[in-house]
Amino acid sequence: MKQRIVIGALLVECNHFGGIPTDLNSFKRTQYITGQDVLEIADGTLGGYYDVLSPRAGDIEVIPTIAATACPGGPVTTRAYSAIKQQILTGISEAISEGPVAGVLLALHGAAAVDGIPDLEGDLLESVRDLIGADVALVATLDLHAYMTEQMVSNSDVLVAWDTYPHRDAFETGQRGATALLDIVDGNLIPCMAMGITPVLVGAINGTTEGEGPFADTMRLAKRIEKRDDVYMTSAFLVHPYLDAPNMGGGGLVITNDDPDLACELATEITEYYWSRRHDLEPELIGVESAIERSLAHDGCVVLVETSDCCGGGAAGDSVQLLPHLMALTADIHSVIPVVDAHVAAECHKHSVGDEIMIEIGFRHDPDWGDPVPVCGTIIQLNDGVFTYRGGIWDRCEGHMGSSAVIKVGGVHVCVATHPTYEWCGEQYDAFEIDVSQMKIIVAKNPMNYGMAFSDYSDLMMVLDTRGPTPATCRHLPFQRITRPAFPWQDDFDEHNKVLTNC
Ligand SMILES: [Zn+2]
Repeated sequence: MKQRIVIGALLVECNHFGGIPTDLNSFKRTQYITGQDVLEIADGTLGGYYDVLSPRAGDIEVIPTIAATACPGGPVTTRAYSAIKQQILTGISEAISEGPVAGVLLALHGAAAVDGIPDLEGDLLESVRDLIGADVALVATLDLHAYMTEQMVSNSDVLVAWDTYPHRDAFETGQRGATALLDIVDGNLIPCMAMGITPVLVGAINGTTEGEGPFADTMRLAKRIEKRDDVYMTSAFLVHPYLDAPNMGGGGLVITNDDPDLACELATEITEYYWSRRHDLEPELIGVESAIERSLAHDGCVVLVETSDCCGGGAAGDSVQLLPHLMALTADIHSVIPVVDAHVAAECHKHSVGDEIMIEIGFRHDPDWGDPVPVCGTIIQLNDGVFTYRGGIWDRCEGHMGSSAVIKVGGVHVCVATHPTYEWCGEQYDAFEIDVSQMKIIVAKNPMNYGMAFSDYSDLMMVLDTRGPTPATCRHLPFQRITRPAFPWQDDFDEHNKVLTNC
């Protein structure tokens, strides 16, 4: 008789300080696939699952439920979560009613929240565990920006995260998760998982896993430990810091084959190392005025990084903090800035290319962070906002900005979208037909991928000290529910490493 494995995906990153609520339409714009069609997904994490599971088709049956992923945003609405959770739980229940289930394999993010539930994944994993019982294997793949909680760790057998940031290894992480599940099902692994957490809340500016850097070094340590014969698997986490929830922090996860003491010891080693690099994780920032001055003095193109309005971190993408500064420059200084503003996009689409438009733009979806800016410019582009990702976790998937337009105000190209989308490698500016090589100033609204997107055009990139729901430093965010002491508000304190375990 075949071993039966149920799979599903609910992957989204949420933000408690801003952004647009993540509703069912947010998922439907990105990925919302049910039933047997889930088995057709060839890329990303689920593609990695099938790559491992398909060769075992003779003795493994894969039972799909749902694949739901969305651009980061505000917390998932109760209605959307209930609908997706129900699809997963009903799929598992129906599978159980037809015969024994050997395992459940879920592609999650780890930093999703629901209205009233700060830890979506913990809630989901506990519900799945309640349904399948203690003896059925439960494995979940995560983003390395997961908010790791007791509820997640205690209810799963194996948790495994991407090893890369920028996130290039969704497929490989899927392979690792599926391999772990098969090892448990085949009786080769009794997973003992320990997760060290240290209360370090930092933005992702210095969080790359490539080249030199504090998190790259942490990841390398974790991967060195993974090579040991007595270690099964490791991950390192830099928590998505824009959730206001208890016991937030990053650190190391170690899975051994039935050796709890070793798992705890090595998870502590990774986590202590991560703690030791906390000061290196805080970024160097520059004020907007100084950045504009330096830009004008610089010979060549400059990237201004407004990470505080990062759609990929859950912000609405509607900040216009930089716009007045760009509009104040002479018209021969060409610049480009993205702004999500559904109203302005719709108004532009009532016009034609070449028309003049006078309108207030920005801070429409998340008005807590600033005021709209009046603009008077020419519509130079109207389109449907569809593009194709060239990498990352949505590699080759379509992205949907909705009705989109470019308004030219002096030398400023204001790229207006209806919906926020994740920025990978400049796909949005390409969709707007912006030739970034002709720009003096490129505004990028993400903390990491801008390097990948624009390093061919610019040798000066400055991270701005601006306000918003995804700032470069967490120092000024109005946290209420995090557990303190925590870095960067407090520094030297003894109790900075807590270990969660499932064994
Ligand atoms: Zn991430």
